[in-house]
Amino acid sequence: MAPLRARPIPARTCVACRTTRPKRELVRIVRTPAGRVMEDPSGRLAGRGAYVCVGGSCRETALEKGALARALSVSIPAGDRAKLMAAASRTLAQLTMNDEGDDRGKE
Ligand SMILES: [Zn+2]
Repeated sequence: MAPLRARPIPARTCVACRTTRPKRELVRIVRTPAGRVMEDPSGRLAGRGAYVCVGGSCRETALEKGALARALSVSIPAGDRAKLMAAASRTLAQLTMNDEGDDRGKE
């Protein structure tokens, strides 16, 4: 890949809704070489990755409809599935905090 000055924002496609978005609006789910499936907020874990939208129900849909399992060519253990759903609320909470900035205390 040649380095370009005006590089387009890297885009990825959500495995649930098939929408192409800038990478930062998606979260990477990785199947590690050990066969675990987990969220990869750094985007740097080794393994096969798939992307779902950060907000909304795409992660849930991808887990429930098997789109994520298909994209990663793995059957996701129930434990990992539960962790992915738990991580979803954490990620969303962080996003909300960042979005709100100095709006604290307004409710
Ligand atoms: Zn989506």
